[in-house]
Amino acid sequence: MGQPATKTTEIGLKPGVVTGKDYQTLVAAAKAGGYALPAVNVASTNTVNAVMEAAAKNNADVIVQLSNGGAQFYAGQGLADGFQAKVLGAVSAARHVHLLAEHYGICVVLHTDHANKKLIPWVEALLDHGEAFYRETGKPLFSSHMLDLSEESIEFNLSECARILERMSRMGMSLEIELGVTGGEEDGVGSDVDESADNSRLYTQPEDVLRAYETLAHIGDFSVAASFGNVHGVYKPGNVRLRPEILKNSQTLVQKRHSSAANPLNLVFHGGSGSEKEKITEAVGYGVFKMNIDTDTQFAFSKAIGDFVEANPKAFKYQLDPVDGTPFKKYYDPRKYLRLAELGVVERMGEAFEDLGSKGRSLVRK
Ligand SMILES: [Zn+2]
Repeated sequence: MGQPATKTTEIGLKPGVVTGKDYQTLVAAAKAGGYALPAVNVASTNTVNAVMEAAAKNNADVIVQLSNGGAQFYAGQGLADGFQAKVLGAVSAARHVHLLAEHYGICVVLHTDHANKKLIPWVEALLDHGEAFYRETGKPLFSSHMLDLSEESIEFNLSECARILERMSRMGMSLEIELGVTGGEEDGVGSDVDESADNSRLYTQPEDVLRAYETLAHIGDFSVAASFGNVHGVYKPGNVRLRPEILKNSQTLVQKRHSSAANPLNLVFHGGSGSEKEKITEAVGYGVFKMNIDTDTQFAFSKAIGDFVEANPKAFKYQLDPVDGTPFKKYYDPRKYLRLAELGVVERMGEAFEDLGSKGRSLVRK
């Protein structure tokens, strides 16, 4: 917005996981350039690799994120200690991305999704691993984590965020907080959309955002998942009314009180799946640099497998054709349909990069 297009190409970052100052450069470039990055929930190497492939194909930078459930799945549902699996799965996925991202030639932000009060120990355990990794490599394991204490009092929410951010900022990490409630549920965090409920909770109050800014800005880098009627999941048209102007009101209030530049806050759009394109564009104009997408990429992954199974039903029941003995190995080899699933994600993400304006905007110096 208002910045010449050449500005971002002059910056130039090295490909790989971005943290600290490089992460802040990426966020600032997105806001200045009027685009946002998709943040995709992953749960396996297939989804992680598909996200990096999609970013490379679209010459765009990207955010890879793990929910606590996604992290557990990554480690394996069979691990007896579920909490340990949530920690180790996230660590394993992060190390996988640290190893591979630079070879895809794009910048990757590594992030964890919603952590409510009972998941604070999960974030703290990840910080233990992050600090060890930092001593080893000079980089934190993740670029950022999220704390979603939106169901608690604003006092508790902000004091816990301040405490955790203090620890994170020593490694140059950023914290995403949540103010107001994103409708729907994400991995057991949040609540279902109740249309009869008091809807003011679904819309972030600018006064709360100002308070967050005044509590956290001097401690470290942070972003705000603000609620403007967004929900997790995809619902029938008409069930969700997005009001991006809520975001503008928060930006304006902070800007006025602190005489800062336009759009002083880094905002995050949760529940991006199924959203109307013009509302996405409007939200990006109000300082949204990150839009979460999970439901639509899950569907793209599964639909590709569904289509393949439908086209080759016998290969999923028999090793040899019961009529003529033809071997079906090349159909039931999991790589066959998992690759199609990856390509389904790559294709859906092409749409996301277009919608968010980030296609062709990678900050990697080519
Ligand atoms: Zn969310």
